[in-house]
Amino acid sequence: MNLLIFGPQGSGKGTQADILAERFNLAHIETGQIFRDMALEDNELGRKIRELNERKEMVPDEITLEVLKSHIAKVPMDRGIIIDSAPRTPGQIEGVERMLGKIGRDIDKAVYISLPYEESINRISKRMACSVCRIHVVMGKDIVDKEDPCPACGGKVIQRGDDTPEGIAKRLKTFYEITVPVIEYYKDKGMLIEVDGLGSVEEVSAEIIKKLEK
Ligand SMILES: [Zn+2]
Repeated sequence: MNLLIFGPQGSGKGTQADILAERFNLAHIETGQIFRDMALEDNELGRKIRELNERKEMVPDEITLEVLKSHIAKVPMDRGIIIDSAPRTPGQIEGVERMLGKIGRDIDKAVYISLPYEESINRISKRMACSVCRIHVVMGKDIVDKEDPCPACGGKVIQRGDDTPEGIAKRLKTFYEITVPVIEYYKDKGMLIEVDGLGSVEEVSAEIIKKLEK
């Protein structure tokens, strides 16, 4: 089974992709993580991605496609894939589908975890991280005050770099303006599974699995 998964920031799509990967023996292809890893590499592509990140620009489609292809090609054919956050723009749909077709992987379903805009803002603004041991810390769950120390190591807890109100609003705007049309494309093709992301992690995954197995 080959899946796509979409959702706005805070929808828990990364966690759900991990759960689905485990359940259906899929390789989780997370484009954002791949680009973050590549940006740490000391080579031409790594430098190019760092430059784009610094300018807060998107990685061009041809690079995205090439990188996706090289990662997917490493997955054994008896194992499916779940692609997180690609195609990210309507302009990438054709290229991604052609690339997947060439390597014999047609998309079976696209999963969309929806979440109200205000809930995305609410959830992301509670996301913190330890500046020392780097674990994720959730305000109101792991700590009660932003001055509280890291529950694991006692280090200083900070907001993640681009999780400012402006940064969050900008990423959500990008999602609703350019990725939602991609989701609508899969809906029109009858390939979309839409679930409400407001429930708990377990409730959301149970709903997705139920719809996938139908
Ligand atoms: Zn810590």
